[in-house]
Amino acid sequence: METMRAWVLRDKRKMQIEEREMPVPKDGEVLIKIKSMGVCGSDLHFYTDLKIGDYGTNGNPLILGHECSGEIVKIGENCTKSEVGDRVIIEPGIPCMHCDECRAGRYNFCHDMYFMGTPPWDGCMCEYVAWPEFLTYKMPEEMTYQEGAMIEPFVVGLQAMRNSGIGFSDNAVVVGCGAIGMMTIAALKAEGAGRIIAVDMEPFKLDMALKIGATDVINPKECSDVVSEIKKMTDGWGAQYAFECVGSAKTVYDINSYVRDGGTITYIGLMINDGAPMPMASAVMRGLTYKTLIRYTNLFDRAMLLLKYGRADIKPLMTHEYTFEQGDEAFEKALNDKKNAIKIVVNF
Ligand SMILES: [Zn+2]
Ligand SMILES: [Zn+2]
Repeated sequence: METMRAWVLRDKRKMQIEEREMPVPKDGEVLIKIKSMGVCGSDLHFYTDLKIGDYGTNGNPLILGHECSGEIVKIGENCTKSEVGDRVIIEPGIPCMHCDECRAGRYNFCHDMYFMGTPPWDGCMCEYVAWPEFLTYKMPEEMTYQEGAMIEPFVVGLQAMRNSGIGFSDNAVVVGCGAIGMMTIAALKAEGAGRIIAVDMEPFKLDMALKIGATDVINPKECSDVVSEIKKMTDGWGAQYAFECVGSAKTVYDINSYVRDGGTITYIGLMINDGAPMPMASAVMRGLTYKTLIRYTNLFDRAMLLLKYGRADIKPLMTHEYTFEQGDEAFEKALNDKKNAIKIVVNF
């Protein structure tokens, strides 16, 4: 039996390298040697709590990770487009392509989705992954594996644009400049938004937001009245669109006053519990629209084109790199240094 090394989560904040059986590509699958993996906020939730909402490990071992790039090393039967040596990124959700949602083009709502690194399904923090060929995308030659591993969260930002309905030159506020907030800013820039106002409490992140595409930044620690500051920047009325990328009860509530009447708020930040209060009486009076986001459809190849042609640049977001052997250190860094870490990438 051929084996490979994998990082296996055994308990809360307890991950170890173990030998696992090497996957064999089935019909329509390719075998990918993983080269880079991004550490995601959702990986961290599983790492510390062993669950997110209904998805829990139930005491079973789990390989984390769903943001990755790699090289095709073996091709299963009935594959049509791949060659050994192709450098690819992986779309981490496998929809059934048969249920009513899949057939309606909303495969992010597939009734039978298999999602990499979400229990009970193992992720990509291992040396090899067998994956459906149609969910792999060839990277442009000049793109590094590290950048490739950051495309999945950029796709989340692009899906947020699509769901929100924002158009060319519309203005927007982004609350929270973690990785997803930054990807939302990059997506806003690619979408041709007008004024892009970033709100965060860390000066380092606000500087980064400007690099990625924000036109203005606000630090609530230094600004006593965020609402009037935003109004000043948006003709006195507030933004047309706002994107919540924190998921805390306070930001979820406060963002309502950052948009103008008739404005649209898209909630992207993961909220772990229901019950955060919402100002629904005034939301109805003001005609606000709420959008949310779960996964994405048909955006990975488009995301790569936007990066290839410079419509967005996400490379500066990689603040730290670790080797495969330092996998647990990478997770501890992501957990303990939220001030300085935006995207942490593990290289195999
Ligand atoms: Zn992710
Ligand atoms: Zn389906």
